[in-house]
Amino acid sequence: MNYFSDDKEWPWLLDNAIDWDRIIPLYYPKFPTEDGFQNKDEIIDFIKELLTQTGAWTSTAVLERAAALDKIGAGKVENGITIPSDELAAFYKEAAELQVFGLPVPQDVGGLGLPLGPLMIVLSQLARACMSSCTQFAFFTSMADMVHRYCDDETQQRIIPQICAGTMSGSMCLTEPGCGSDLGMIKTSATPTDDGKYLLNGAKIFITNGGGGLGFVLARIKDAPEGLAGISMFLCEQNIGGDKLNYRVTKNEEKMGMHGSFTTEVVYENSTATLVGEQGKGFKYMLHLMNEARIAVGMQALGGIEGCLDYALKYATEREQFGRPLTELPLMKRNLSDFTTERDAIRALMVDTVSHFDIYQNLDKKKSHTGELNKKETKMHDEAWIWTRKRTPLVKYYACEAYTHLSQRAIQVLGGYGYMEEYPVERYHRDSFGPLLYEGTSQIQALMALKDVVKYAAKDPKKFFSSVFAKHPTANFVSADHFSVKEFNKIQYKFKKNTIKLLMKCLRPESIGDIFNPKAWTAESNIEELMTHAETLCQALSYMETLRVLAIHSEQDESRLDLFKRYEILVRPRLEMIYTDWSIR
Ligand SMILES: Cc1cc2nc3c(=O)[nH]c(=O)nc-3n(C[C@H](O)[C@H](O)[C@H](O)COP(=O)(O)OP(=O)(O)OC[C@H]3O[C@@H](n4cnc5c(N)ncnc54)[C@H](O)[C@@H]3O)c2cc1C
Repeated sequence: MNYFSDDKEWPWLLDNAIDWDRIIPLYYPKFPTEDGFQNKDEIIDFIKELLTQTGAWTSTAVLERAAALDKIGAGKVENGITIPSDELAAFYKEAAELQVFGLPVPQDVGGLGLPLGPLMIVLSQLARACMSSCTQFAFFTSMADMVHRYCDDETQQRIIPQICAGTMSGSMCLTEPGCGSDLGMIKTSATPTDDGKYLLNGAKIFITNGGGGLGFVLARIKDAPEGLAGISMFLCEQNIGGDKLNYRVTKNEEKMGMHGSFTTEVVYENSTATLVGEQGKGFKYMLHLMNEARIAVGMQALGGIEGCLDYALKYATEREQFGRPLTELPLMKRNLSDFTTERDAIRALMVDTVSHFDIYQNLDKKKSHTGELNKKETKMHDEAWIWTRKRTPLVKYYACEAYTHLSQRAIQVLGGYGYMEEYPVERYHRDSFGPLLYEGTSQIQALMALKDVVKYAAKDPKKFFSSVFAKHPTANFVSADHFSVKEFNKIQYKFKKNTIKLLMKCLRPESIGDIFNPKAWTAESNIEELMTHAETLCQALSYMETLRVLAIHSEQDESRLDLFKRYEILVRPRLEMIYTDWSIR
């Protein structure tokens, strides 16, 4: 099965759920393009062709290698470097031949210069076949983006072509033994040298692909302020000439899953590094990478959901019990229908989010390179940012939690066989815990989502209580008469009412005179009380955003109404449970 062209959903989403009218002019300002594309449709056709090729590659070679990569592992650590296993090396070779490492990389530094959407879809295709391959792959493309965004011309021209060729990759180095979620505790030090460089000292743990060749490292310059404000970002390359390695990889962790991905310890001992951007802005820069990475991890989790359900559905069709295929047993039928509904709904949410993110990312890069955007671009940038900021923690939280849950359910569909290594669903489940943890755990995502709501409420409580959430831009073109939109509005009204009740319960100032005083709403003890509801709020927000996207899709195309209705039936009871939880606890 080709993961793109044989899939019912992907071609529809590519044609209808990505805002090509806005995205393509950002990447191709005039026609014909330098590559000879005459118009928008030719570019979309090219992207479809490419995704059909990657869909064929991932559903055959990458999938067929996944079990062996899981067994044999990513490779070994020897003399301070990582050496990929034959399986991982074969994957790199194929990816380089297909030129997929350079998909989103601008053409002037050797890439294909495509929008972000195709890259994100390739990530989900890879994860559908093999989570480890997907993870290793992401540390090529994301590194190219970071180098292009933050490094000088010389560094870009030197490093990015190597990334596109598959001979160099990198890592993001944040976590230390004493510091994970709370990055303000980073201890790795950076000491300036006379030639404008820095010497790094310290150790990083759990670093994916630590031996790729370069790392973006968060460290603290001597006498920098405490906490996040004192953290700077450095580019540190492993080979800088001479016999000695600039930093050493000392360990590859033995993990529960994702065996085909390197998770390493990296030690810096007077390692020469270059400051990226300005001192003290390291966390801000890393947040940029993390925003993209969080959406990418959501796509990865979606791929994992697709992959394990591919197996579960096939098995349920073939396996007979009580004289019928499992798919015909009433309880199993309901369960399988719920699983596929949630998978399809999450896919729609992800693609809509990627579409906003693509616009934001392109214009944000332009802004940071040229220092300005025109009026129209500024409007598009700001609008896309609202949706990107709001959705990022939701998609990371929702897709990853659903992946762990649905891969566990997939094991149950296979009964005892699901527990056996002979079938791949147990691998999907083991692998699902990685995405739950990296790029900020689920709890951290939930707190980010909560912060967004509180920030909005505290800015202008009066306005907040009259209209809780921003209006989706596409909704302007949507007639409120459509069934799905009316239905969505009803559900949203109830959600708003319950959210306001929750906020009032936790944050309401004691004195009635303070009711419109923003400061009084954010007293620390009140916020701590509200924090206990962060995960349930994040879940409810995720369901609401998914419903919003499905309602818009149904408006566009009547054939999508069935998915909207099925998803509504799936999540309305969940929302009711959350409201009950808010009223009792
Ligand atoms: C497979 C894998 C790959 C990784 N790759 C990288 C990498 O490439 N680079 C890198 O720098 N790091 C990487 N990490 C590390 C990862 O980012 C951290 O494990 C993660 O940020 C959590 O940090 P921690 O493990 O120290 O847990 P802690 O921060 O100690 O958290 C422990 C628990 O407390 C919860 N918690 C923390 N703070 C709060 C709060 N305020 N409220 C409620 N609950 C809270 C967490 O959700 C978690 O459940 C990787 C981890 C894994 C598993």
